[in-house]
Amino acid sequence: MHRSKIVAGNWKMNKTLNEGIDFIKILKESIPELRITKAIVGMPFIHLASAGPYLNGSFSIAAQNCHHEAQGAYTGEISASMIQSAGAEYVILGHSERRQYFKEDDDLILKKVKAVLSHSLTPIFCCGEPLDIREDDTHIQYVNKQLENSIFHLSNEEIQKVIIAYEPIWAIGTGKTASSAQAQEMHKEIRLSLADNFTLAIANEIKILYGGSCTPANAADLFSQKDVDGGLIGGASLKTNDFLELIRIAEASI
Ligand code: PEP
Repeated sequence: MHRSKIVAGNWKMNKTLNEGIDFIKILKESIPELRITKAIVGMPFIHLASAGPYLNGSFSIAAQNCHHEAQGAYTGEISASMIQSAGAEYVILGHSERRQYFKEDDDLILKKVKAVLSHSLTPIFCCGEPLDIREDDTHIQYVNKQLENSIFHLSNEEIQKVIIAYEPIWAIGTGKTASSAQAQEMHKEIRLSLADNFTLAIANEIKILYGGSCTPANAADLFSQKDVDGGLIGGASLKTNDFLELIRIAEASI
C-alpha cells in the first residue's frame, strides 16, 4: 500500500507574526513545489490569515486547537468556521499538551474533531502514552482506548478524513525519540485497530504520523517504516533548515 508522506510542524506558542511570516517565505522560496509530500505548518491562530497567501498545493497551514461549538459566548475561543475563513486546511487536536494543561479528554476531543470535519477541515488527531504506561508495557492498550473513546465513534466516511499522529508523551520535547521499531509497532497496531473498527481499505488509506523529538538525524529511519507516513514535528519545526531538511527526507523516503 502506497501512501504519500506528510511533514507537519507544530510551532506551539512560539514566533511573533513577523517571525512566522518570514519563516513561511523562506519555506516557499526554498522548495517551491513538492513532488509527493505535503508540508503543513501548525501555527498560532493569529498567524493564519497572514500566512495563507504564501501557500500553495504543496504547503498548507494548520491551527493548533479549535472550540467544539459553532459559535457563541465562549470568550477567547476560536471556532472551526473562523479557522476555515482564515485559510487553514488542518487542525491539530488532542495534543498531549492540550490534554495535560487544559484537561481535554477523549469526549471533548471527539466533539472538536466533529466540529472541524463539519467545516471541511482535516483534523490531525494526536494520541500517545505517558512514560509509566510505556514502562508497564501497556502502551498498545492505552492508545487503543484513546482511539475507542474518540475517533472510533466516527462514521466510515468521517474517519477517512482524519490524520492520526502517534506521539508518545515521553518523547515529546525530551530529545528521547521512539526507536523506529517502537514507532512501527504502534503504527501497525493502530492500523490493525482501524481495520477492525472500520474496514481494511480505510485502514490502509489513513495517514499515521509519528511525533516526538523527530529531527533530521532520525527522520530517515522513522519515515522509512512501513506504517509511518511522516511526522508531526515540534522543536525541529521552529528552525527553517531543520524543517526543510525533514521535508527533503520525506520526499526521498517515498
Ligand atoms: C509535538 O509537540 O507535537 C512534538 C512532536 O514535539 P517535539 O518534536 O519537540 O518532540
